[in-house]
Amino acid sequence: MTAIDTDEFRTLLTDRRERIVRAIDHLHEQHPGSQDDETGELVTTDNHLADLASATFDREFDLGLEEDAEEILSAIDAALRKIEEGTYGVCARCGGEIGVERLRAMPYTTLCIDCKRREER
Ligand SMILES: [Zn+2]
Repeated sequence: MTAIDTDEFRTLLTDRRERIVRAIDHLHEQHPGSQDDETGELVTTDNHLADLASATFDREFDLGLEEDAEEILSAIDAALRKIEEGTYGVCARCGGEIGVERLRAMPYTTLCIDCKRREER
């Protein structure tokens, strides 16, 4: 068991998941336009900055990253499953705890920072 607040991460993961699903749908529906086309009409809305950030996020997936998006999606699903099983935040390799700060930055990671570094070497 870990001291992680799983509700916080369930929300984080679900939000992230929805945005990626939307980005993938968007990618399948239409050919990506220029950034001006996508954000131009949002300028007058009150939450224009948030929309702009979201449009920018979606655009990342327009730049040929669909494969990564689907990879992240399955990682998010796996993380949500771990939350249900009570094993969320446990490193898949060494069984140690993944730091909360690391999980906040990348909630779908399966490795603690030490194992990740070892893997990258
Ligand atoms: Zn580890």
